[in-house]
Amino acid sequence: MARIFLLTGGNAGDVKRTLQRAQQLINDRIGPVLHCSHRYESEAWGFEAATRFSNQALEVSTDLEPEAVLDAVQEIERELGRNRAAEAIEKASTGAQYASRPIDIDLLFYDDAIIATERLTVPHPLLAERRFALVPLCEIARTKRHPSTGLTVGEMLESIRS
Ligand code: ADP
Ligand code: MG
Repeated sequence: MARIFLLTGGNAGDVKRTLQRAQQLINDRIGPVLHCSHRYESEAWGFEAATRFSNQALEVSTDLEPEAVLDAVQEIERELGRNRAAEAIEKASTGAQYASRPIDIDLLFYDDAIIATERLTVPHPLLAERRFALVPLCEIARTKRHPSTGLTVGEMLESIRS
């Protein structure tokens, strides 16, 4: 049994409803959602987008291996309308690294595992730079330590606050 932290987010369509659906599907397929943060709004990060993003952090208990968690979240993204081909076209036309999407689900922590495979990097490599991930995560996991840097989530957030 592993304790994992996921970040759900999106900026297209009925985001509130999509994040609620995502939480339900995560609970059904990955494992019980133990804690969830509020939804936080932020400006798009890394590209220009017409609509703001909403993000929510979830703590989940799971029997799935890390790669199986990734498979499950990608399946949920597809079912909730994420279309990577459409995003690729948008990215090509804007030249940006990111595109609007109804749902994105990232694996932030998997217990204290450190994973670096072609498909999966855990802890999420951009966590320490992303206020939109740290703010919701801090609400439910302020004292959780990053397994490589030893910093808590609260300390990581403080360090980008300045
Ligand atoms: P982003 O989340 O950066 O906007 P995507 O959701 O399209 O981009 O994910 C791109 C790739 O990132 C996925 O195909 C997945 O294999 C990979 N990936 C690596 N590490 C992680 C992680 N910790 N959580 C989610 N996806 C990851
Ligand atoms: Mg993602």
